[in-house]
Amino acid sequence: MNVVIMGAGLSGLVCAITLEKNGITPTIFEKRDQTGDRFVNGEIMLDILNRPVEDGIAHLAVEYGIYLKPTSAIQKLKLYSKNEKAVIEGHLGFSNIRGRVQNLFESQLEQQTKSPIYFNSNKTYAQLLSEYTHVIMATGDGDDVAETKFPK
Ligand SMILES: Cc1cc2nc3c(=O)[nH]c(=O)nc-3n(C[C@H](O)[C@H](O)[C@H](O)COP(=O)(O)OP(=O)(O)OC[C@H]3O[C@@H](n4cnc5c(N)ncnc54)[C@H](O)[C@@H]3O)c2cc1C
Repeated sequence: MNVVIMGAGLSGLVCAITLEKNGITPTIFEKRDQTGDRFVNGEIMLDILNRPVEDGIAHLAVEYGIYLKPTSAIQKLKLYSKNEKAVIEGHLGFSNIRGRVQNLFESQLEQQTKSPIYFNSNKTYAQLLSEYTHVIMATGDGDDVAETKFPK
């Protein structure tokens, strides 16, 4: 089996790590010159929003052997409305910085990947299909898949 992954985002990298754990070393082609989006933005992962998984980071580690370190833990949430104020405390989730910053999730995953990554790729699905037995599209854009003519 000769597998190639289009895209070294979160999905492509996690896919590569998972394939490696199952004895397959894919090749990854990434359109950009490095991993990570060009613009920096913040995201929060609140456990309360992720049920039935209480702690997504721990779940990935225990169930899939994939290790991610978010920017920081959220231990206090202050909620304000016009008439009321509330504070929630405890292990509430994580905040994380995305984009080309130090220790971004994609870099952490890249370090856990043994598969070769080729940057600045302009290879198309058709080109890759002529060279590999399996092509995984992890380009982050559903339209790419919708527009692709897959062989029957
Ligand atoms: C502004 C913003 C805020 C967000 N906030 C959150 C949030 O708070 N929480 C959350 O869970 N999610 C959030 N998301 C969504 C999150 O970013 C995506 O769900 C996640 O990045 C998807 O990962 P992916 O690997 O599928 O796609 P992507 O991260 O888009 O990775 C796709 C990769 O494929 C590459 N690629 C594209 N075309 C090709 C090609 N033809 N050949 C080779 N490589 C190619 C791209 O360069 C990219 O590196 C946010 C997204 C945006 C834009």
